[in-house]
Amino acid sequence: EAVGVSKHFEVRNRGGNNAVVRAVENAGIALHRGRIVALVGESGSGKTTVARILGRFYAPTEGEIRLHGRPVAAGGIARRDYFRKVQLIFQDPFGSLNSLHRVRYTLGRALKLHGHARSRREVEDGVIDLLRRVNLTPPEQYLDKFPHELSGGQRQRVVIARALAVRPEVLLGDEPISMLDVSIRLDVLNLLAKLRDEEGLALLYITHDIASARYLCDEIDVMYAGQLVEGGPKEAVIQSPKHPYTRLLLDSSPDPGRSLAAGSASEGLFTATGELGEPPDPADPPTGCRFHPRCPFAMDECRESFPERTEFPDGQWVHCWLHQKGRAHLLAPAPPAQ
Ligand code: SF4
Repeated sequence: EAVGVSKHFEVRNRGGNNAVVRAVENAGIALHRGRIVALVGESGSGKTTVARILGRFYAPTEGEIRLHGRPVAAGGIARRDYFRKVQLIFQDPFGSLNSLHRVRYTLGRALKLHGHARSRREVEDGVIDLLRRVNLTPPEQYLDKFPHELSGGQRQRVVIARALAVRPEVLLGDEPISMLDVSIRLDVLNLLAKLRDEEGLALLYITHDIASARYLCDEIDVMYAGQLVEGGPKEAVIQSPKHPYTRLLLDSSPDPGRSLAAGSASEGLFTATGELGEPPDPADPPTGCRFHPRCPFAMDECRESFPERTEFPDGQWVHCWLHQKGRAHLLAPAPPAQ
């Protein structure tokens, strides 16, 4: 669980001056056994930073990470113990694997390092079991392959198998299908669903593609320019988006299977009248609600402060002044033209 986490980076801007990039502001995400949460947003929205905070690659500037309710930082849970519970899967399966190591060695080493196999027989059996669990069958066919002898989808399955070798409770998938061939994206999503359903893993699925989130996940959280703006059960968010940005994301991907099938999920946002323009500069974000320069409903309050969270009975929540000011009816879709 991420509780009120923020991450700020000091950088040099183009003018040579120091600047602070507020990559994530006050984000909260809870993962549960047997459930997949999607974190959706455009490139640069801060979602990868959230994954890296949850994976303990970055320490949060503010807030904390908890595992089973226990804070993990400052002597809470040792990093090695944490990595036994929480594993991160990166976007590029080729970069995640050592090109000089065969599958047998990569998986066997993970089993041995974490004490899940000792003898040669145990390692061999363990590796074969891992390959079966990620649907690389018959496993014997893959044992002696190098990464370059595998397809992108097969490599990502080996990466997932290596994560499973640790026997984690949580998988953090950072755009795990975006670099894969279209034809095998669905296979990898189905594998993640199987790990949730049959092994009870908790998963965070990070994506810019709301269509794949819609296909795979139980809950969708939406991030914009470092701020979590909306979230809740998938059906609620899809059927009745409460934030104008979520509405635009959905309108940009109207068909649930479109971007999975087309293979090129758009990262652009489109309104009925055209493209919506670029997201804000993270080193100089807009005040208040960071979406206000692109929002068709922006009011004075939006420029002044970030709205409180509004909660709904079905578990959905949103940060938007429309709901605080009794103007949510403006979000209703326009009636069809006669
Ligand atoms: Fe638009 Fe204001 Fe809501 Fe932000 S808070 S999404 S600017 S209406």
